[in-house]
Amino acid sequence: MSPAGDAAAALKELPDGRLFIGGEWRAGRGAEIDSHFSADGSLNRTLRGASAEDADEAIARAQAAQADPAWRDLLPHQRARHLYAIADGIERNADRIARIQSRDTGKTLTETRALAASAAGTFRYFGAVAETMDEALTARRGSALTMSVHEPLGVVAAITPWNSPIASDAQKLAPALAAGNAVILKPASWSPLTALELARITEAAGLPPGLLSVLPGSGREIGNLLVEHPDIAKVSFTGGTETGRALAVKAAEKLMPVSLELGGKSPAIVFADADVAQAISGVLFGIFSSTGQSCIAGSRLFVEGAIYNEFVERLVAATKALRIGHPFDPATQVAPLIHPDHRAAVAAHVARARDDGAEVLTGAAPPEGADFARGAYYRPTILAGLDNTAPLCREEVFGPVLAVLPFEDEAEVIAQANDNPYGLAAGIWTRDFPRAWRVGRALKAGTVWINTYKQFSISTPFGGDGASGIGREKGRQGLLAYTAQKGLYADLTGAPHPWAGPV
Ligand code: NAP
Repeated sequence: MSPAGDAAAALKELPDGRLFIGGEWRAGRGAEIDSHFSADGSLNRTLRGASAEDADEAIARAQAAQADPAWRDLLPHQRARHLYAIADGIERNADRIARIQSRDTGKTLTETRALAASAAGTFRYFGAVAETMDEALTARRGSALTMSVHEPLGVVAAITPWNSPIASDAQKLAPALAAGNAVILKPASWSPLTALELARITEAAGLPPGLLSVLPGSGREIGNLLVEHPDIAKVSFTGGTETGRALAVKAAEKLMPVSLELGGKSPAIVFADADVAQAISGVLFGIFSSTGQSCIAGSRLFVEGAIYNEFVERLVAATKALRIGHPFDPATQVAPLIHPDHRAAVAAHVARARDDGAEVLTGAAPPEGADFARGAYYRPTILAGLDNTAPLCREEVFGPVLAVLPFEDEAEVIAQANDNPYGLAAGIWTRDFPRAWRVGRALKAGTVWINTYKQFSISTPFGGDGASGIGREKGRQGLLAYTAQKGLYADLTGAPHPWAGPV
């Protein structure tokens, strides 16, 4: 099918714009939200977002659904069945949800199909974790049997960004539900449709009504209301560092736990002994896939001096050969950005870098031609001549912009890579494994890739240090982030407590 044909099919199957509030589908009572297809600027849907009353209602229903013995008293293997049914539903609808997500975000269908598959895997994994997670008998120090158990928190708010909605939504919903909570999901205003489709799938999979509500709406209003609401027991947030920091301050006032998956400015480090073809392909994928709109984008490239000129020359040539195109064209490697406003923000970062003395090796402008005229496209961009302390090397651009910097030795590159507020991810290319190990252990990063980039396993914890956040998602421990740990002591003697004397 042609890209235009796929796009037309996707338009027809978009969610109808009603919200999922406390188990019911109805129009929101809040402000209008326009969702656009960033490949051509066409309107996907106008929907009414959630109002404060909608949010209050969703939270009250979530509390009731969470406390209902029909959910609260499920045994872990019974709760797991709900997660498996949702995973099956996502898989059955994978093509449809991929097309919706591509219209919602402008991402390539190739990528949104992979994200849908990974979301299904996330639900299946946390179902399996729920039914295999042990509770512990702990070492006794007296006559009582001592145990450590985990309880659900209650109603959890999940606040997610626009760049990979189905994946970030699943990463929060699956462990939160597996642990026995109810969830209020607030998707980003630029991509409200994918989460609504996910809600339809959970409903069809038989998740009891009220356990999930999906409330598109302004972050400053609805997101903030969720954070401040006395009946929200935890906020799990993925998004920008400034938003996360402000949210954490409010959470502290409430003494409410938060998980924060925030931004990044990740270093990619290429040593002179690296396999150059492997390194170039990894660096390209690390920064330019998803058009750079990835928290883990490897946006600062350090290349060892001995190979710097040759490496950068080949990298630039390979970058120029990347296929920029329509999200529905299977040949496309670089699709449009999410929104024209975001393209303007990316361009502003590049303009300031040029003022700071950056040399443009390629890109730094939208592509030319009729195919790109109405879309939010931006060419993959490589900048040289900046210092690691320049704003472009310190601030997250969240677009297809790479800064290249030379280095001379291992200690220097570790110091430069770590000289940044963020600590989300890093990549190292070398044939010297002991060196990769040393450098990998020394880098300030939640994830380090060696001779590869952007590989993921749901079994491996993910998260950031410093300005990149607090907490870890994924992995068996990821479920525990949605629980309250409890110590339980049960008397084994059957005797009255001696302290009280005869009673
Ligand atoms: P954002 O502006 O921080 O928004 C994220 C979410 O927070 C959206 O749903 C937003 O709603 C909401 N929000 C905004 N202000 C809020 C407030 N005052 N209180 C509560 N919620 C509020 O981030 P974004 O631009 O959508 O996403 C890009 C950022 O996400 C980048 O920094 C990227 O690195 C980060 N990210 C991190 C990870 C990770 O795992 N570490 C993964 C993906 C993305 P509105 O859309 O209505 O404003």
